[in-house]
Amino acid sequence: RLEETAYLDKLSVVGQMAAAIAHEVRNPMTTVRGLIQFLAKDTEDKKLKEFSPLILDELDRTNKIITDFLMLVRPSAPELTVLSLNEVINDTLALITPYGALHSASIQYKETKRPYQIVGDSQHIKQCLINIIKNAIEATEGKEGMIDIYKHSSSKNSVTLVIEDNGKGMTEEELQNIGLPFYTTKTKGTGLGTMIINRLIREIGGSVQYESKPLEGTRVLLTLPVSSP
Ligand code: ADP
Ligand code: MG
Repeated sequence: RLEETAYLDKLSVVGQMAAAIAHEVRNPMTTVRGLIQFLAKDTEDKKLKEFSPLILDELDRTNKIITDFLMLVRPSAPELTVLSLNEVINDTLALITPYGALHSASIQYKETKRPYQIVGDSQHIKQCLINIIKNAIEATEGKEGMIDIYKHSSSKNSVTLVIEDNGKGMTEEELQNIGLPFYTTKTKGTGLGTMIINRLIREIGGSVQYESKPLEGTRVLLTLPVSSP
């Protein structure tokens, strides 16, 4: 996508300062959060009792935006290693399954028969998978969520995974907007998750594609480079 590339180029110029500010804002915010928590603890004050959870929620949301933003503009340099695809996915599922359970969504992974060896930064790939699966889980809010992960295809140089959900899906217009900075349809979203995915995956020579039908669900195709023997 052209617009996105332009945006990331701009970020490299303006972003350094924005990243520094975002980082600096965090410390006073942590102090404020701690103080509110302290003041609200065992308080008799009705207003404080009523509004402190809201204040904490909003502070947490701000913090989430900063975390995502920093991950986007200042990701750690990728450390490329050869990784077992099945292992990377199983490790990720161990992290994200509780979040699914919390939203009554179950995640199935059909291990590949062939033991694919992929090349990439293990942390970055897991972060991408988490962002994709998190979106899938959140899309199934209000129903029994089913998320299926399986191999779609492979070539000499790559393997493509499908992450499929039975969530609310996306309209054509929503599909066009996905990946744009701060584009979110969620009240508590940051709209940065998919940009992070794009950035981290492109960095290792992979790619992401979305297919979706409103009310039916979404399929995310994630292509990862495999190590040549
Ligand atoms: P956030 O999750 O904070 O909203 P993302 O960048 O992760 O930000 O996603 C942007 C938007 O893309 C979401 O708000 C949602 O509208 C849409 N989206 C992403 N993944 C899915 C999915 N699996 N099903 C439906 N919509 C999705
Ligand atoms: Mg997200």
